[in-house]
Amino acid sequence: MRVGADSRRCLALCAAAFLFLLTSACDRDQTESRYRFTAMGTLVEITIFDFPSAAADAAAVQVESLFLDLQQRWDPWADGALGQVNEVVSSGGTGIPDDDLADLLSRASRISRDSGGAFDPAVGALVRLWGFYDAEAMPDRPPSPGAIQETLDRNLPLTRLWDEDARVLTGHEGTTIDLGAFAKGEAVDRAIALLEGLGVSDAIVNAGGDLRAIGRHGDRPWRIGVREPRDAGVLAAIEVTGDESVFTSGDYERYFEFEGRRYHHVLDPRTGYPTLGLSSVTVIGHDAASTDAASTALMVAGPQHWPTVASALDLRQVMVVENDGSIQMSRDMRPRVKLLRDKPPEVMIRDIP
Ligand code: ADP
Ligand code: MG
Repeated sequence: MRVGADSRRCLALCAAAFLFLLTSACDRDQTESRYRFTAMGTLVEITIFDFPSAAADAAAVQVESLFLDLQQRWDPWADGALGQVNEVVSSGGTGIPDDDLADLLSRASRISRDSGGAFDPAVGALVRLWGFYDAEAMPDRPPSPGAIQETLDRNLPLTRLWDEDARVLTGHEGTTIDLGAFAKGEAVDRAIALLEGLGVSDAIVNAGGDLRAIGRHGDRPWRIGVREPRDAGVLAAIEVTGDESVFTSGDYERYFEFEGRRYHHVLDPRTGYPTLGLSSVTVIGHDAASTDAASTALMVAGPQHWPTVASALDLRQVMVVENDGSIQMSRDMRPRVKLLRDKPPEVMIRDIP
């Protein structure tokens, strides 16, 4: 759907995305085309700069069908490629994914290994138990500790289930592969490749605040905002040119509160509970898929250990917000970020080994 130039609508649109374009968001000119649609449980926004508007319209239609197709194929619980494999694997049979899904599982498995299991798409059964699989419905209380332990005891990590050479998944009672922390990034990468193939060189594909940007916004860089985890304001601005992905994982996207505690959708595969300590992690990387997985892995790694996992994943630019609002950044991230809080906070600089 093409987005009109109406400024009130534009403001509503800005508010809807967790991480959004700062400049140009509300000063559209004729050379910018913007589209939005819902896919993969999130608002996807395409911005194309300096491209004939009829061709941009046609490109956006293709990007939307791409997202809708991938959503169906990679939904863990529907009847697509991943859903079918899950059905077989979870009842103990050998899962044989198609080539495309097999490539995805190989890459996910490698990231899982490199992150020391912090990112692990085999958390599907836990995600299901917690109730974080349905974008429409949010649970109102955590599962019982016994049920969590039981699911955890049964669970095997993806690195043990995925046979890289045979390209099959070992069957294991109850196992469900959930690519939720990776697939959205992969869809963004494919959307960017599609746009580039059509001759677009300046664009942003933004899926719920996670994005990849190519080129520039005319004579200036793309300027994007990172959300405050607790009050929905803008925490920081980051300028992006060339080809970069900026992904944020947070405890504010899908969560519920029970007896004064917050329970959110990024789970620690070691404990079976939502991760503790960090409210958000923002990573700047190259391709969107691995940047997506990385931001989730660092949420799991937590406030002390994230630099070690960042190093293992070859990341250089990371910002984390702790539960008390304090900020840590890697040394290479600091010059990229302009903090927008009224009273600029102290930033703890961490070296990524
Ligand atoms: P979002 O999709 O909101 O940007 P993430 O990229 O962090 O957030 O992905 C979170 C989703 O990934 C969860 O909803 C769940 O489906 C899945 N998930 C949760 N914990 C993990 C984990 N430790 N490793 C891999 N995937 C996870
Ligand atoms: Mg992620």
